[in-house]
Amino acid sequence: MRLTELLPELPKARTRLLDNLGRVRREVGPITAELSDAVADHMNIRRGEVHEVVSFYSFLDAPVDAVRVCIGPVCDCLGAKELLAKERGANGTPVLGVECLGHCDLAPVLLRGDTVEPEVTYRTNEGAVLGLNERDETLADYERRGGLGLLRSLPAKEQIVEELKTSGLAGYGGAGFPTGVKWEAVAKEPSPRYVVVNADEGEPGTIKDRYVMELRPHLMLEGTLIAMAFADAAEGFVYLREEYATARERLLAALDEFRSAGLLDRRSLELVVGAGAYICGEETAMLESMEGRRGMPRLKPPFPSQVGYLGRPTLINNVETLAHIPAILANGGAWYASLGKNGGKGVRLWSLSGAVGKPGCYEAPNGSTLRELVDGYAGGATEEIGAVVPGGAASGILPPAALDVPLTRDDLREWGVGVGSAGVQVFPKRYSPLRLLAETMRFFAEESCQKCTPCRIGNRGLHYLLEELAHGRVAMPREQVEEWLDAMLQTSICGLGQGAPFPMRSAFRYWPELFTPLGEPAAA
Ligand code: SF4
Repeated sequence: MRLTELLPELPKARTRLLDNLGRVRREVGPITAELSDAVADHMNIRRGEVHEVVSFYSFLDAPVDAVRVCIGPVCDCLGAKELLAKERGANGTPVLGVECLGHCDLAPVLLRGDTVEPEVTYRTNEGAVLGLNERDETLADYERRGGLGLLRSLPAKEQIVEELKTSGLAGYGGAGFPTGVKWEAVAKEPSPRYVVVNADEGEPGTIKDRYVMELRPHLMLEGTLIAMAFADAAEGFVYLREEYATARERLLAALDEFRSAGLLDRRSLELVVGAGAYICGEETAMLESMEGRRGMPRLKPPFPSQVGYLGRPTLINNVETLAHIPAILANGGAWYASLGKNGGKGVRLWSLSGAVGKPGCYEAPNGSTLRELVDGYAGGATEEIGAVVPGGAASGILPPAALDVPLTRDDLREWGVGVGSAGVQVFPKRYSPLRLLAETMRFFAEESCQKCTPCRIGNRGLHYLLEELAHGRVAMPREQVEEWLDAMLQTSICGLGQGAPFPMRSAFRYWPELFTPLGEPAAA
């Protein structure tokens, strides 16, 4: 299609900028400077501002049929570099190396246009809450399995908050903030309020939200509509990562069914599709992106529950978190809490990938141990385990000695790591922890939004240090590295810069011999 034909169809509100650019990319071609200017003029936005947005995201200037090869740590361990080289040598289609594609259970994996290779298979279990073992094709399937009951008779707001607090449900995107506390805070703020679903799953090793959206989209949408009813929100949004084409299709189909069934009367719930920026999973960066700007995190406070989308109070929850809510309200918070073990409350989805027999996404109690997850759900280790990342890039790195530690916040604190997004990546002994660490720091350096200096310079510098160390060279003494890590932790604006020191510190603690050339850390 020619741009002149498409332009009149594009809405002019600034909040539609990302959508418009995505549409131009798909229907006209990769966003060039000329296309960017034309969209800017049409929407009455300064040209420079649209250029900023285009250059911020990874995919707006890439053709829709580009091949995207994942080079995240699990794929790297299982042969991504060879796959990338093979694809680059194969034909004229542009081939990009990209960060985690959210299909770590299929590693090494690539996207050819929107198509995942190898073909998607789901390895999961029924579980007590989410029932991922069976896919809901239609709204009727979902209703047959007990869906929509809650939406039709919702408890009073005070009771909802009480049940959520009792359940122990805490944000499963990775931050782990108590959901009941967040909902209560939003309800105290003045109307109008918005609800946003964080479906920008991009944490390396994390595939669970994709499983929910592809297998049980109606369940997540029911949780979202409960949140909207609770917050008296007339408008809601699902911010979905661009790479999840199947989830997009299934959510759009499910939304159509909800609309036809009258479940969206007097409400709007829309999909906003990202464009390849990991940082947009940070809630305030996501809001910036939705408002048509670069996805750069805001300083907090104020929190989104106070000043969120378009300056209004906004309830933001992760996909999986919302999917648990119908069962919690139907069966009670105490019932849900009792499903946990070893001090953990409730259950969650654990993404398991790397050196395991059945990589996939499994519902298991909070407080499970790594050994229980690997042996009891994921088919056991396929090679001797060398290191485990328990919950995404910033969660830290554990040695094999931690396999029997319950994965709760309190137990893991002693090991200097976190549960994060429960994206458990199992690395074999043959994969050097130094390489794992270097790949992790490269990821942070690539995905830093560049807004603040400690993160922008720190991650690049530390990645360089690790690459040099792998070649036996010392780019910076240990004492200085420690200073940098402290500065990043204490002065970065958001969780990316604040979290990057954790894997470094884990490696110092559990594999000290790798860092001997850097010298001793400064005395405390
Ligand atoms: Fe951006 Fe990093 Fe600063 Fe976060 S910490 S705002 S990602 S530069």
